[in-house]
Order: sequence, then structure tokens, then C-alpha cells
Amino acid sequence: MTSADELFLGTDAGNDAYREAVERASEAVVEAFAENATPYSGESSASHADRLSAVECLPDEGQGLDATLNGVADRVLSRSVGVSDPKCVAHLHCPPLVPALAAETALAATNQSLDSWDQSPAATHVERRMVEQLCELFGYGPGGDGVFTSGGTQSNFQALLLARNWFARERYGRRVKETGLPHRAKAMRILCSEAAHFTAEQAAAHLGLGENAVVTVPTDDGYRMDPDALDATLADLRERDEDPFALVGTAGTTDFGSIDPLDALADRAAEHGLWFHVDAAYGGALALSPTHREKLAGIERADSLAVDFHKLFYQPISCGALLLGDGDRFDLIERSAEYLNPEEGDLDAPNLVSKSVQTTRRFDALKPYVTFRALGRERLAELVESTLDLADDAAAMLADAPDFEVLNDPTLNAVVFRYRPEGVGDERAGRLNAAIREALLRSGDAVVGRTEVEGTTSLKLTLLNPKTTVGDVGDVLDAVRNRARTITAAEATLQG
Ligand SMILES: *Cc1c(COP(=O)(O)O)cnc(C)c1O
Repeated sequence: MTSADELFLGTDAGNDAYREAVERASEAVVEAFAENATPYSGESSASHADRLSAVECLPDEGQGLDATLNGVADRVLSRSVGVSDPKCVAHLHCPPLVPALAAETALAATNQSLDSWDQSPAATHVERRMVEQLCELFGYGPGGDGVFTSGGTQSNFQALLLARNWFARERYGRRVKETGLPHRAKAMRILCSEAAHFTAEQAAAHLGLGENAVVTVPTDDGYRMDPDALDATLADLRERDEDPFALVGTAGTTDFGSIDPLDALADRAAEHGLWFHVDAAYGGALALSPTHREKLAGIERADSLAVDFHKLFYQPISCGALLLGDGDRFDLIERSAEYLNPEEGDLDAPNLVSKSVQTTRRFDALKPYVTFRALGRERLAELVESTLDLADDAAAMLADAPDFEVLNDPTLNAVVFRYRPEGVGDERAGRLNAAIREALLRSGDAVVGRTEVEGTTSLKLTLLNPKTTVGDVGDVLDAVRNRARTITAAEATLQG
């Protein structure tokens, strides 16, 4: 039987066991991926379920770490999708940076919890310092503040929660935190573009406003919110006696990477008394780059902004932040608990519990802290910039190919396209591209994304990986062609 000493850090036996375990786990990761020539094994969902169905997850007697890790290497690691593979280009799902993985190991082992200072004495201040620098990075003044979150979903939810409470206080004199929704809640509206992320609707539903409270504004031909259409929508709402309270601008839509005209949106928000939230989950990383940061102009005027580090900042999941231009507004959701942040604090120390919708909270801030300090802004910017250049090259390659059509002019690194040779109509192109995507995933040769553009299934390359080359993109497109030929030939056989 393993002694308790060997199971916990703190003694020589425990510390040695820890070193060995971490090394063993990292070795298993490296080996699992070294054997894979493609980003995915191609194994079906049913096959994973089958293989795991007989595994006893809570045996009466343990098998030891070595045997267990061997099993995990075989059953899980080698059959995972290879996020660091240059041909894994489907989602906003990044290859994690090595310094960030080192930080992940350290933050897990120290296991600090950010809800109260006595559970994270140094970590609390690392997070606060990171937040300060992030506020600076995005152009907020000294009143800015923020909190680390599990990602864009949580950041967007919390931003709209604050916006709802703020508006109810300002407009209806209602303290939602204490007394619940105002009578006018049924009239409250959130505005975002039709290309915005679904989390606006999800948040509206969670906030008791209902997803129908979200009014979408049409986009221009670059998938950006059209300010004239926004004016028309605002006029419409006024006419119908509805109360818009939040305007969500997107800096990097999930499908197209398009960025709303943030300055124009900030003007409208100021004019109409709206809370201006910017969802920069995807595009926030442009702030690192002197060449591209101009695309975010106006973001510093946002009341709140969401940024994800587990996308274009190459951090392991989960890692995001919500920032506020005016940090005092965290008061709108203030919580106090005797055991965490007593009002009569005996220590002159910050307890971050009140800024978050979580209680126990990971020390995720350590990951960007280590990454930023280890690599520096310039190197990080180069990584991001190289992927934007690659997206331009990929779009040009698609535009030149007679059997493909490209559907966006990339602002970030997402390229949306269809396989569509001469004479293939919309409907057939949609079916064909859906079948291609499935066949690719089943073969494992390339992992590409899919989405709908004007009702037709399309394919997507999300080129986050700085290691992906033009040659890799060419290979992915060849794989698409090959699958298309196989599918078309099979159809012809069936018909003939
Ligand atoms: C990814 C994404 C989200 C959701 O963020 P999670 O980190 O997945 O919770 C929200 N908005 C946009 C624009 C995104 O790209």
C-alpha cells in the first residue's frame, strides 16, 4: 500500500513521487503524439464509447499510477485530437505554449484559490497585477479592473449581468441583486450583430430576460455590424417602447474573425445610454501587435470586455478574463461571506470572491503571467502575426483555385470556404461540403471546421497554429479534393 507520505507533497517521499509522476505524465503525452502521423486517429464516437464502457473507473483496489497512466496513454492520449498538429485547424482550439504548460503544472500543485486572500496570498496579487497590465494593454485608464474567468462564456455572462443590474439601477431605480428583476424586465433588450457568439442569447436566458431579449443587427459584406442598421434597429426599439440596455460588439467573430466597428458602436452606446460590452474572446490578442492593434480601435471605450487566453494567446484551457473600464461597478454583484471576506476585515487584504461568479477559483492568471514574462510581447506578437499572414496566403490560394470559393477576406486567421467546382449549385455544394468534413474527420487526415453561410454548409480553417505552413494548407485542400472525388464517384456509382 502506498503511504500517505508518498501521496502528498511535503516530505522527501512525496516530493520524489510528485517529480516522477509529472515526468511520467509528460512522457506519456510526448510518446502518444509522437506515434500519430495525423491530427486524429479517425476513430468514431461509438468506438470510443465501446472501448471505455468496460473500464472500471472506481475499482475497489487501485492499480497504481504506472499501470493507470499506461492505460490512459493507450485509451485516451493517443486517441485525442492533436491540437498541436499543423493540420488541426477546425476550431478556436489552440496548441498550448510550453511555458504555459509549465505554469499549469505549478498552479495545479500549489492549488491556490483566488476567492480569498488567505487561500492565495501571493497569487491574489499576481492576478491583480496581471489585470492591471491587461487594462493598460487594452487602453483602460487607472479606474479599470477585472477578474480571471473560465473563458468567454463566463466573461460575457458576467458582463451582461453587470449591465443588467447597472441599467436597472440607473433607469428604474431598482436594485436587482436584492429585489430581483424590475417590472420592465420584459422590455429590456441586448443588441449584438447577427454574427455574434451564441453566448449573448445564453446569457439573456440565464439572466431571466429570455433569449428573445437579444435583438440582432444585420452585418455588412465583411460580417461586421452595420452602424446604419444599428441606428435603424435602435429607432425601431424606441418606437416599440422597448429598452435596449446593452450593446455587444464583437472583436473577432467565431466564424469569420470579423471585427465590428468598435468606435462607431461606442458612439451609439454613449448616445443611447447603453452598456457597451466588447466580446474580444478571439481577437483580443491583436492588442499585442503594433501592426494589427489598430483593428481594435475603440475597444478602450468599452464598459466591459471579454478576452480569452485559451484561444489566440495559446494558453491551456481554461483561461479568460473580464475587464471593466470602471472597476467600482463590481459593486453591482458584491457578495460578502463571513468566512471569506468579512465586512470587518481584520487583514488589510483583498478578497476577490466578490468580483467573480465563482467561489473557489483557479490560479489561471499564472499561465499568461509566465508566458508573457518568458516570451515577451514582441515574440508573442510575432506568433499571432504569422498566423494572420498565413490566413491571407490561404485565402489567396483558395481564390486562385478554380474548384474552391473563398467566402471571407480574413481579418484574423479564420478562412471560410467551399469546395465548389464549376456547375455545382448551392444546395449540392452544401451537401458535398458537409460530407467532405465528415469524411475528413473519419480519416483523421485533417481536422477542419464547418459552419453555415447564408444557409449553406461551408468549411472553415481556423489557422491558430504558428507552425502551420502554406504547404500544410495546400495538403489540407488536397485532402478536401480527394474526399470530394471519392464522394462524387460513390454517388455516381449509386445512380448509374
Ligand atoms: C470562443 C468564444 C466565446 C466563448 O468562449 P469560451 O471560452 O468558449 O467560453 C465567446 N465569444 C466568442 C467571440 C468566442 O470566439
